[in-house]
Amino acid sequence: MIKVFKFGGASIKNAEAIKNVGSILQDYKEEKLLIVVSAMGKTTNALEKVVKAYINQEEELPQYFEDVKKQHYDTAQTLFSKEHPIFADLNDVFMEIEWVIEDKVQDSYDYIYDQIVSIGEMASSKMVAAYLNQLDLATQWLDARDAIRTDNTYREGNVDWQETQEMMKTAVLPKLQKSGFVITQGFIGGTSENFTTTLGREGSDYSAAIFSYCLDAASMSIWKDVPGILTADPRLFSNVTKIDRLSYKEAIEMTYYGAKVIHPKTIKPIQNKNIPLYVKSFVDPEGDGTIISDDIEVEYPPVIVVEPNQALLHISTRDFSFVAEQHLGHLFKLFAQHRIKVNTMQNMAISFSVCVTNIPERISALLADLQEEFKVVKDENLELITVRHFHEEMLASLRKGKVLLFEERIRGTLQMVLKDVPVMHRK
Ligand code: ASP
Ligand code: MG
Repeated sequence: MIKVFKFGGASIKNAEAIKNVGSILQDYKEEKLLIVVSAMGKTTNALEKVVKAYINQEEELPQYFEDVKKQHYDTAQTLFSKEHPIFADLNDVFMEIEWVIEDKVQDSYDYIYDQIVSIGEMASSKMVAAYLNQLDLATQWLDARDAIRTDNTYREGNVDWQETQEMMKTAVLPKLQKSGFVITQGFIGGTSENFTTTLGREGSDYSAAIFSYCLDAASMSIWKDVPGILTADPRLFSNVTKIDRLSYKEAIEMTYYGAKVIHPKTIKPIQNKNIPLYVKSFVDPEGDGTIISDDIEVEYPPVIVVEPNQALLHISTRDFSFVAEQHLGHLFKLFAQHRIKVNTMQNMAISFSVCVTNIPERISALLADLQEEFKVVKDENLELITVRHFHEEMLASLRKGKVLLFEERIRGTLQMVLKDVPVMHRK
């Protein structure tokens, strides 16, 4: 049976971390593993800077790109001898971008983004593959673009499941039939014309789920720097605890509301084939982690998800007509067109309020389209807190020092949109 492992950026952020992954994998020598890796550490952010600098023709462009290369070469120098072919491989990967950025800007932002940013995963997967082989853990490298087919929605490729399933049969299964591991890139796919697409930030979990689904994996494991799924972000809250078991439903709800542990698109494919998902710690690989699977009936503790960078849009009709089904249909079509995710909403007689993630370019484009029919007031710098399985007593402390703009309660889930303005207290 095939198992799918996913190692994120933090787990391979430097030579030390890659060595740790090697030592974890020693325990799985006998298994058929398909390993999905992200780009090293914060490489994707660094490559986003390269993209912006190229598009805006900033002076710092060569320096930004140099930084990315240096980080990879430095790591390779620690892991390999000078003669190792990995140096030539890395050079080939970077060369492709060298060519792109020497040229004038001709293509669309999103297309260029995917061609440039995807090399983070190309480079990391080559390096980890070479390192595992050096440890005598036989590992074949697989180009994810030969396995995952998407449409040409750059930066948010939509998977063509039928094609992908076929490609897995021809490009992936034969590799897995040989002994040893197969390693590939998370986050990326390819179009029918062989262009590279990406699946959205943090999309490597989703890639692993696509592989798990198509290969009928026995299980999928995500290796992270936390002991498992926690009840809140430990950087923001104290007394956070690990949840040992979660149902697919609970997991999809948590990730939908913004819990950053797993990419929200990960759960559907694995739920559809009833594949258990383990979230484990690469710092403590013996730890139990969290298991996500079917029909888990447990009493969940309160789970808190905080989403910063929110905007509240108060949309009202200019002619005093009711915000009725037609308007709502039209509004939602526009949200979808501008790729704006509605995080929570409320409708009133002649107005409608939505809380969305504040991506200024997308929101301005939306507002331009709404202008004629609607009056829109935008409130920024907000925070959306979602609490599942909430207890009344905990809410006051969550709101402390903030002004509550909006609250929604549905069964055990509570959502609040909060603004950070100083609250005056009576002396
Ligand atoms: N490297 C990509 C990112 O940072 C994908 C991932 O890490 O899952 O967004
Ligand atoms: Mg990542």
